[in-house]
Amino acid sequence: MKQTLIGLALCALLAWGVWRQPPATAPIVQHREIFALGTLVQLSFAQSVPPQLMPAVEQALSRFETRWSVHGDGDLARLNQLIEQQGSAELPQSLRPGFVIAQQACRNSGGLFDPGIGALVRLWGFDDEDHFRSAPPAASAIDGLLKARGSLCTLELGPRITPPTPSTQFDFGASAKGRAVDEIVALLRARGVHDAIVNAGGDLKVIGSRPDRPWRIGIRHPRPDAGQEIIASLEVHDGEAVFSSGDYERFFIHENRRYHHILDPRTGLPTDLSQSATVLHRSAELADAAATALFVAGPDDAAQTMQDLGISHYLLIDAQGRQLISPAMAQRIETSE
Ligand code: ADP
Ligand code: MG
Repeated sequence: MKQTLIGLALCALLAWGVWRQPPATAPIVQHREIFALGTLVQLSFAQSVPPQLMPAVEQALSRFETRWSVHGDGDLARLNQLIEQQGSAELPQSLRPGFVIAQQACRNSGGLFDPGIGALVRLWGFDDEDHFRSAPPAASAIDGLLKARGSLCTLELGPRITPPTPSTQFDFGASAKGRAVDEIVALLRARGVHDAIVNAGGDLKVIGSRPDRPWRIGIRHPRPDAGQEIIASLEVHDGEAVFSSGDYERFFIHENRRYHHILDPRTGLPTDLSQSATVLHRSAELADAAATALFVAGPDDAAQTMQDLGISHYLLIDAQGRQLISPAMAQRIETSE
């Protein structure tokens, strides 16, 4: 349907161009879609798409996914296996920069964002759509992992890493999508793309602008059955990323309670202070990690946590649906409530 509409619009433009001299060559935004990173990645271009670009993007995403997945036999999955079996592992060069950036975010967030909680994520079954549970794990199992877990915050990132216990597992579900988006944006720029948006299931980063105006995006309402899909919108400029974390993304309901995929590393439980958290920053990787930290922090600790992470633009919807908007963000967004 969308393609038909774009096609009709194109015909209309072409017809108009023939009628008027010189021909109008107004660029049209073109979309390409790839399923990757567990979501639909949409690339929109306000320019012609260079040949061979999409195969290169697909290949980069596929390599990235293998490298950072906790399943299969990619670098992170193997590292986790070695830690489980031998208690330590060599940290491959392919993972090191992601570990270093995430460690900084772990420390700056006071451990609210901590990829060292992989074993807890797995226990809850949020590592894989196919592992989803219908009821929470036993409290004793959660406690056991909490006591035996290591943190990325305190891990020494030498050539080998040795977490305090072999039950430590790493999961970068809260920052890898951001890292991937940064990488794809860099790849696009290196191939001459100057006006595009990379949108991974609502988390995005922008290059340039549309032909006639900035890119404009909507921030999803965490409870869309309230009648609205979008809670706010804003213009996003060259090099900026906007990432959200929400309790609506992966969850199950048990006895009328929602159990979602963002865990408080201090308790091992899904947090209950927020419905969604959105961060704008130039690094998509940091924006992704910070959105998760903001979600866990909740309204009372939001400002301090964001200050410590160096984030000035954020929006938090708390558990009661109240909006907490930072002063810098307030200058940028239009809310629809
Ligand atoms: P999404 O990837 O759905 O956009 P997030 O960026 O918040 O949402 O990442 C959530 C994922 O990160 C979870 O599925 C889990 O793998 C992992 N995770 C959950 N809680 C935390 C946490 N407190 N710190 C770091 N990683 C987390
Ligand atoms: Mg995140």
